[in-house]
Amino acid sequence: MVVIIVFGGKLDRLIYIEMNVQGEAKTNRTYDAIVVGSGISGGWAAKELCEKGLKVLLLERGRNVEHIKDYSTTNKNPWDLPHRNRLTLSAYDNNPIQRKVAYAFNELSGNFFIQDSDHPYVQEKPFDWIRGYQVGGKSLLWARWVQRWSDLDFEANVKQGIGVDWPIRYKDIAPWYSYVEKFVGVSGTKEGIPHLPDGEFLPPMELNCVEKHFQDRLKKSHPGRHYIISRTANLTEAQEVHKKLGRGNCQYRDRCSTGCPFGGYFSSNSSTLPAAKATGNLTIEPFSVVHSVIYDEQKGRASGVRVIDTNTKEMSEYFSKIVFLNAATINTTLILLNSISNRFPTGLGNDSDTLGRHLMDHNYRGRATASVEGFEDMYYYGRRPAGTYLARFRNVGNDKQKDFVRGYAYACGSSRGGWGRGVNMDLIGSELKEGMTVPGPWSFGMTAMGEMLPHPDNRVTLDKEKKDAWGMPLVNINCQWRENEDAMTKDAVNSAAEMLEAAGFKDVTAFDNKQAPGLAIHELGTCRMGRDPKTSMLNEWNQMHAVKNVFVTDGACMTSSACQNPSITYMALTARAANHAVEELNRQNL
Ligand SMILES: Cc1cc2nc3c(=O)[nH]c(=O)nc-3n(C[C@H](O)[C@H](O)[C@H](O)COP(=O)(O)OP(=O)(O)OC[C@H]3O[C@@H](n4cnc5c(N)ncnc54)[C@H](O)[C@@H]3O)c2cc1C
Ligand code: SF4
Repeated sequence: MVVIIVFGGKLDRLIYIEMNVQGEAKTNRTYDAIVVGSGISGGWAAKELCEKGLKVLLLERGRNVEHIKDYSTTNKNPWDLPHRNRLTLSAYDNNPIQRKVAYAFNELSGNFFIQDSDHPYVQEKPFDWIRGYQVGGKSLLWARWVQRWSDLDFEANVKQGIGVDWPIRYKDIAPWYSYVEKFVGVSGTKEGIPHLPDGEFLPPMELNCVEKHFQDRLKKSHPGRHYIISRTANLTEAQEVHKKLGRGNCQYRDRCSTGCPFGGYFSSNSSTLPAAKATGNLTIEPFSVVHSVIYDEQKGRASGVRVIDTNTKEMSEYFSKIVFLNAATINTTLILLNSISNRFPTGLGNDSDTLGRHLMDHNYRGRATASVEGFEDMYYYGRRPAGTYLARFRNVGNDKQKDFVRGYAYACGSSRGGWGRGVNMDLIGSELKEGMTVPGPWSFGMTAMGEMLPHPDNRVTLDKEKKDAWGMPLVNINCQWRENEDAMTKDAVNSAAEMLEAAGFKDVTAFDNKQAPGLAIHELGTCRMGRDPKTSMLNEWNQMHAVKNVFVTDGACMTSSACQNPSITYMALTARAANHAVEELNRQNL
């Protein structure tokens, strides 16, 4: 069946003119699997399903971005750009949300973010929704930190009676972490920290001299706290699996968010999509907004998806045996809420009334900075595209906090200010020139990365009136920090100041920047996994309890948020779910 949509008139809904298309036309639109979204999780779904022999249609709402060819700014410097890497006034005005990612939303990488003015949503409470709509999604932009979860995270809900229990434990996902890490290429150090399990690491990047100093001082001032190089998806030593895809070693340029011509960091474009293409089983359709999942009431299963062509605004349908939803948390939930049928009047699979609920982000409000004296004769080599990580220590082992549950880690780093920063500008001649050859002073910064608890009223719904340019209902986001996050922030701010002072740093400033949820760009929850269909949407295989041939493996599936950067967990869950889906297809259970 092909459906053409007509917009406008006095109707507040799209009108569908339906035509029966059978035979060859339908066959041409039929695949073994449909994957929605080509970002980090969708790339993995496509790769795994293609490599297992399925014919896969990958639907992506944005434009195509071809690895290397379409990285238009990656070899440019600020002085090569019309506005020296600054935003124009109109780019600034049109993007009140995206511009908050100031380090990446600029002339070099801005083309991988959406334009806010083109993609509105309703904020019942402030929520900064950062997006990248193109082939590759946010995998082109991400900062590549990839810490594993442990059972401290998977067991927290059930032990504390918060939310619902995760239907899996660390042992279920550990082999899949290893599986994806080897393909991704993760640099890091093995530390033996029980709640931050070691992975399959390439050689680590190095701490600089001030970071090493902090590490030494912390061991003395706060024994048992672990300060390490971040585990990062950059190739410090490319392996055969990477070289086969044309990926090479990272060149320490720290320009990852422009794309990387060396394939030095993991993105869908450099890694999973080329692997999927190599099988000959992949079809990618960019410019395709998935509108909804088609539910076949008679068979009790999904038969495919409805798709709006972003250029013509025409709607059509594609069919498959299984559907993987990987449009990123909020968009996946939008698609499900928009998939209405007699059987599911409030959204596909929503028997539990949990669809759209328990939206989470990470709490990055706690910040601290300090200046560092000494080390004037030291510098660092290259531009390391990684930071440093202070692992969670709250509510771990014997540490028991009375004001909050769960915990936080810190992203940290030390660097020197720009060359000539410290120079006295009253100087002239050779003295001034001499001064300009000296780099600025050292500083040290910390950002707390805290867990957010799932709350049923932190919620995504569809706006009843407003629609976007393609006729999709606008998303309405109602999400706020609550008591636990506030108490945790307070502790994170105080602890940061205490550790910086103990390290002997000066001018310590620690504060709560009060940023709204969303800006950590780790939105998760809204279609959670769980053991009981009455209280969750997905089973232990990311498979919808009520519609077994639909899988959700992006952040929407998350039952809690832990405090680690989440994407490596989405990748491991996706590879695991794809494996299960194919086994079930082979057993003819789907
Ligand atoms: C600046 C930045 C830094 C980050 N740093 C880290 C980090 O260090 N570590 C970490 O773990 N995470 C990090 N993240 C988050 C990480 O990028 C996301 O967790 C990850 O990309 C999510 O993967 P995904 O597949 O769910 O979504 P995405 O990668 O966003 O991909 C979703 C895709 O779906 C497409 N899509 C959406 N709606 C539809 C539709 N209706 N039909 C068809 N296609 C659709 C989108 O266009 C997009 O291509 C960072 C993100 C940013 C922006
Ligand atoms: S830092 Fe490494 S991965 Fe990033 S753009 Fe440069 S070479 Fe590529």
